[in-house]
Amino acid sequence: MEDYVRVSDISNYLKCPRKVYYTYQGHELTRTVNPSYVAALIIKEMAQDFAEVVNSEDMASSLQSLLEISAQQITTIYRDELADIDPEIISQATTQVGSQLDEVISGIQESMQALGAGRLLDIFNSLDDEPILYSEKLGMTGSPDRLLMLDGGPTSSIIRTGKAPLNGVWKDDRLRLTALSILLEDKHDCTVGVGVVEYARYGIVREVPIRRADRRKVLTLAGRVRKIRDGRLPDRPDDAPCDYCGHVEHCQVTQTLASRFF
Ligand code: SF4
Repeated sequence: MEDYVRVSDISNYLKCPRKVYYTYQGHELTRTVNPSYVAALIIKEMAQDFAEVVNSEDMASSLQSLLEISAQQITTIYRDELADIDPEIISQATTQVGSQLDEVISGIQESMQALGAGRLLDIFNSLDDEPILYSEKLGMTGSPDRLLMLDGGPTSSIIRTGKAPLNGVWKDDRLRLTALSILLEDKHDCTVGVGVVEYARYGIVREVPIRRADRRKVLTLAGRVRKIRDGRLPDRPDDAPCDYCGHVEHCQVTQTLASRFF
């Protein structure tokens, strides 16, 4: 599946097409492992077991114990990235997540009201975590955070650790879910009508319809990713998030003349 377009490439393309280029050129990503980064990993691990919080009569202590377990296990789960981490960074990350638990509880309660506790549990009790999906027909592969069964059919869910929008879901989350839904449909020969985004830091869970326009967009973006993979260096977008980019050290700011001919 080496030449397959990854769903994560499409997400990267939406942030900045050059990120895709550097990934395929084999450039190492310079990642800063600071307390905020580790806090995001911890909260993502906690979210895997949010069903326990929904079922608990004492949500605060259930969440606190999830935090302690996740903080303890994080270096084992993310060994490739955190093997040599300073324990002080884990401790600061744990404090950071601990200060947000009230917000997580109110988000989970809000989601229980919006979706119903039964449906929320259907989402949190995934059939499989991080299954690898691929479509030979489309030359695309990807992995949702959860594979679910909703309304009698398979659905995927992604767990995000960034900000939640006031309403609905962010555009790149919607497109990521659409791409994953297309892969699910190919695998199970079904139609996926809805996907789920979990904004774990806020305990907010939102469903999103899989729209025809987004399906079209995903296929177009996959085509653009293929061109970049074949060697075309894209222009740098005016609003590229360079300040937070791990490729900034090797990123050429202007498009080379040679690359224009690809
Ligand atoms: S440094 Fe800026 S232009 Fe280069 S890949 Fe990163 S975000 Fe894109």
